[in-house]
Amino acid sequence: MSVSLENYVKIKGELTKAGALLVAVSKKKSVEDILALYKLGQRDFGENYVQELVEKQPQLPADIRWHFIGHLQRNKVKYIAPICSLIQGVDSLALLDEINKQAIRLNKVIDCLLQVHIAREETKFGFDQAELAAILPSMTDRKNVRVLGLMGMASFTENESVVRSEFQQLKSLALQYATYFTPSEGPVLSMGMSGDYQIALEEGSTLVRIGSLLFGARQ
Ligand SMILES: *Cc1c(COP(=O)(O)O)cnc(C)c1O
Repeated sequence: MSVSLENYVKIKGELTKAGALLVAVSKKKSVEDILALYKLGQRDFGENYVQELVEKQPQLPADIRWHFIGHLQRNKVKYIAPICSLIQGVDSLALLDEINKQAIRLNKVIDCLLQVHIAREETKFGFDQAELAAILPSMTDRKNVRVLGLMGMASFTENESVVRSEFQQLKSLALQYATYFTPSEGPVLSMGMSGDYQIALEEGSTLVRIGSLLFGARQ
């Protein structure tokens, strides 16, 4: 087992100081590995693949808060809608509509984050600024979806100033559109992974998604 309890304690300390939430990204990791962190008090876990989440969730304690952080296909929303506490990475209007539809069916409200494309890489998903500006005012039509804030992934680069400026861009969008997001304490800003979470915290992240530093490298 490659779970690093030492890293967990260190990262928890840093996040507590910054007032940010830790989502432990457990994709491709076993139920045993997840339980090891659960036993230390970790309750928020992030998964990228619908099939994997649906298989693991029933084998794990019911008070785990599952975050879906991967690219979500519309036809799979129905499988995760009953078990997710936050769907991050919502990147299309059609997906929002489907989440709203499934939420109505379940008679619940589903919390979401909109993903913004901040990186240089074309491969990453998300809205651009113009799309965001168009979508947010229409959210009141989707009464069973609550948008808590934004999520973004910085470019995969050693160049710290590029990463930092992308995080700054996301933060400024969250502030610009703050009135459209639900929590009165301010929007959720999901940014930062194993390689860049310290920069993200410095730039105002309220939620970091960390996998390999906690669970070891993935195959
Ligand atoms: C896999 C993944 C992470 C975690 O990545 P690490 O580098 O292992 O910390 C965070 N966010 C998203 C969207 C991911 O897909």
